[in-house]
Amino acid sequence: MSLSAAFNSLKSSNLISWKTTGKFQQTLAGCIELAGKTLHTGKVSKVKVCPGFAGEGRYFEFQSKLIPASIDFARESPLCTTLCKDGYKIRTVEHLLSALEAKGIDNCIIQIQSLDSEDSEVEVPIFDGSASAWVEAIEQVGQKEALDRCGNNLEKLAPYLNEPLHVLRNDSFIVGLPSSEVRITCGIDFPKMPAIGCQWFSSSFSDDFYEKHIACSRTFCIYEEVEHMRSAGLIKGGSLENAIVCSATKGWLNPPLRFHDEPCRHKILDLMGDLSLFARPGRQGFPAAHIVSFKGGHSLNANFVRRLSGINVEGSQ
Ligand SMILES: [Zn+2]
Repeated sequence: MSLSAAFNSLKSSNLISWKTTGKFQQTLAGCIELAGKTLHTGKVSKVKVCPGFAGEGRYFEFQSKLIPASIDFARESPLCTTLCKDGYKIRTVEHLLSALEAKGIDNCIIQIQSLDSEDSEVEVPIFDGSASAWVEAIEQVGQKEALDRCGNNLEKLAPYLNEPLHVLRNDSFIVGLPSSEVRITCGIDFPKMPAIGCQWFSSSFSDDFYEKHIACSRTFCIYEEVEHMRSAGLIKGGSLENAIVCSATKGWLNPPLRFHDEPCRHKILDLMGDLSLFARPGRQGFPAAHIVSFKGGHSLNANFVRRLSGINVEGSQ
């Protein structure tokens, strides 16, 4: 371990305490297999999520490479969260990881392949733009206690934030405040989009709150930005079937919304997926803390997780 890595781990241990959840680590009771079109490349990919061993966490298997669902492998990418290792990339991992983290699937192997090509990049299917397909599939197959390779169950630990922490970028910020439970407050502000405007949503996460109020919230996009994003090679697979689209002058183009504040709730869905990347193998990723996010996005979420991990990033102190 280098001196800076030793310093970072020391810093991380002051910021976070790992405490028991009183539960054993979980995995899936069987395999989930889903295929679908992807948002950014527009290609079709197939995902098979299989039970994993306790203590090994969640990781992707792509072209025989294993890529842990960890912040260590997260890379900057526009409009989605990408994991990258040895030149292999998996894009748009956030909705699947959000569902796995929220449902407490602590250990699993996520095998992914593109049906259209054998290249070094692949993307998780978008479905309807929410995490519903994943949540339903997890509930259908069920979950069970995970065992390690010696046949033992392992206690599930959760990270507790010991002191306030924040990251900033322009007028966006994420603040974490110590709390005995997971609580999220999220705000978005689109002054030029009257149909969205300023929205706030705040709640603690207990029982089936995620399934009922967050999981089915869909990705949203701004109609006037679509052409610009397409010319940048993004949202090639985007359609009115996998996102709710808002126009500055015409309002929502494909109503009805599932909630009046669906965009804000979707930001929470994304935040949970991105913060799950803090998970140490088999442990809870989302910190027991009150997380307040305003105008956040994937890149700021990733920086917050880096700070939790004791890594200094620009725009934070
Ligand atoms: Zn999203």
